Amino acid sequence: KFITFEGIDGAGKSTHIQFVGELVKARGLELVSSREPGGTPLGEKLRELWLHEAMHVETETLLVFASRREHVAQVIEPGLARGAWVISDRFTDASFAYQGGGRGLSREKLETLAHWVHPGLEPDLTILFDVPLEVARARLDATRDLDRFEREKADFFMATRNEYLRRAAEAPQRFRVIDSTRSIADIQAELARIVGALE
Ligand code: C5P
Repeated sequence: KFITFEGIDGAGKSTHIQFVGELVKARGLELVSSREPGGTPLGEKLRELWLHEAMHVETETLLVFASRREHVAQVIEPGLARGAWVISDRFTDASFAYQGGGRGLSREKLETLAHWVHPGLEPDLTILFDVPLEVARARLDATRDLDRFEREKADFFMATRNEYLRRAAEAPQRFRVIDSTRSIADIQAELARIVGALE
């Protein structure tokens, strides 16, 4: 299985990814846990470039997809081929949400790139951690030094969040939307149910 985790910054994604990894291992399965942008040595170099330099939205998008191409070839497909469960902190939905929703790149261009970089590969399950903007901001401000994306204005995150929710509504069989304002214990119980239901 291929499981991806999405959500705007400050939605609480990282707290829960490790928990899902433990659930997968508890089933006696091989776990491959990865992230984007990044996930391979070259991908991590691209991530560094991309996090700290201002660039045209198309450059940014192409770099994320270049990193994704490596990630698919080196990590995701080999993992799935040997029967491991692969979990990834972000995947292509993030490009639609951030570069599409947030920065206004056309959906058509993103679909072309997705089709080019991973034809036929889609997550079996995508868990979207959803949180109102004010809650996300408060969490971010409290926890870390912000990167160039995290310093973006509220409209950017609003548009990003809306695009995530739109995609979730379009593919309800793939997405589970988690209200991330709930307690960690509640969310973990829901994650256990969701992962438990995967065959
Ligand atoms: O998920 P993570 O915190 O590692 O992402 C790093 C930064 O890149 C975040 O601030 C996120 O908002 C941004 N990002 C983006 N476009 C993507 C993926 C992540 O702008 N496709």
